[in-house]
Amino acid sequence: MKQLVFATHNAHKLDEIRHILGSRVEVRSLGELGCTEEIDETADTLEGNALQKARYVYEKYGCDCFADDSGLEVDALGGLPGVHTARYAPPAEDQSEANTQKLLRVLKDEENRSARFRTIIALIEGGEEHLFEGIVEGYITTEKRGNGGFGYDPVFVPKEETLTFAELGADYKNQISHRANAVKKLCQYLAENHNENKSIK
Ligand code: IMP
Repeated sequence: MKQLVFATHNAHKLDEIRHILGSRVEVRSLGELGCTEEIDETADTLEGNALQKARYVYEKYGCDCFADDSGLEVDALGGLPGVHTARYAPPAEDQSEANTQKLLRVLKDEENRSARFRTIIALIEGGEEHLFEGIVEGYITTEKRGNGGFGYDPVFVPKEETLTFAELGADYKNQISHRANAVKKLCQYLAENHNENKSIK
């Protein structure tokens, strides 16, 4: 079976992607490679960060791999927090809470609340690089709603929905999310280009 390393230390993401890719691909963790170090994300775009992480693994361990990077882009803020989404607010014990409170504060008197989540997946296979993009359009609420999910989920309502990601439930969110859309494109590519000889070296 084809093997790919997912360049993330996030066990939740690893489970999610294994679930979506099913038996088509064996997704290996960084731990299985013996990679325990944090991988830098110092680029100024989501594409740059996803490629930076995938290239690190490919160059150091010589195996086919992919990495992802996501961000929230708010139109009234010119696309911010974008690549800074994870650390939008100053470091805090509850970073997600600090980030969402800062966003609500910054948008307090703003009428244009349109925003999108965007995920980029960078795949490196046999040295060839491929990018897959997943987007979910929506808007930022004026207050937090819902207890599910993580990060900005309580303040993001996807287009054509009335509930926030935090209210919609994980199963439904995982069908329509930015990450799901990017993973679907990766899946489709792998299904169309599956080549046993190109697996881990
Ligand atoms: P990452 O690149 O997947 O680690 O995402 C970067 C940051 O974007 C996270 O730390 C979260 O703050 C935010 N984020 C990404 N995906 C989601 C989501 O599905 N819901 C809420 N916040 C998210």
